[in-house]
Parts: sequence; C-alpha cells; structure tokens
Amino acid sequence: MPSDFPTKIIIHHSLTKDSGTVSWGAIRRWHVEHEGWEDIGYHTGIELVYTEYEMFMGRVWDKIGAHTRGQNDKSLGFIFVGNYDLEPPPKKMLEVGARVIALWMRLFNIPRDNIYRHSDFASYKSCPGTEFDLEELKKWL
Ligand SMILES: [Zn+2]
Repeated sequence: MPSDFPTKIIIHHSLTKDSGTVSWGAIRRWHVEHEGWEDIGYHTGIELVYTEYEMFMGRVWDKIGAHTRGQNDKSLGFIFVGNYDLEPPPKKMLEVGARVIALWMRLFNIPRDNIYRHSDFASYKSCPGTEFDLEELKKWL
C-alpha cells in the first residue's frame, strides 16, 4: 500500500439518470463484467432509493479503487448517482453524502483542499458534472 494512500478524495457522478430504485448493483456489474475489474471502482456512493438517500459500500476503504486514472493509488472515490451535467445535485443529497466524506477526512487526516473533482485530473471529462458545485458540497464538511 503506498504511504500516500489515501491523501485525496475524488468526487464523481454516474452520468446516468438515478432510477429511483437501486442502481448500485448495475454500476458494480458494469465495472466487473464490462471493465473486468475485481469489484466496483468506487469506495462509496450515494443514490436516491424511493424517498431516501442511501449510501452504498464499494471497495473497502483500505483498498485501492479504480475511478481516476493516475490518482487511484492516492485517493478514495465517492460517486453521486445521477447526471449533474443537467441539473445540480439536490442539497439533501450533498448533506447526506458529506457524512461519509467528512468521516474520511477525519479517519485519514485528509484536508478540505484535497477534495477534488474527477475533472481536475481529466480535463476532457465534466465529472462530477458541469452543474455540480464542489463548494456547495464543502459547506457540509
Ligand atoms: Zn468520474
């Protein structure tokens, strides 16, 4: 395990519409069956399931994920299920998602300045979405 894992948190969106039921399994299947990875690439994600925002465990937090080229051995990956190129993520979703991100900051001693958009490392991508304001998320941290 590299000594600088994890020193960053990288935020993603799924680019798919949140179905309103559980999408997590479909994301996992895509990563395992299509990408050929051993497990889902993200460490944790959040999605709307019926009326509540639920968080789902991906890779265990001491394992290197597969979510950001060149940064996987330094970072934890968190995904907001939905397409935030089209609209901003709901405030409630940011508030709930921030609970795990804040926990990561405490557990692994990660400063606020080390929370990044995926697009910070892949300029050709909009992930976690053009309408996703990282500063809005950081208000909960
Ligand atoms: Zn991404």
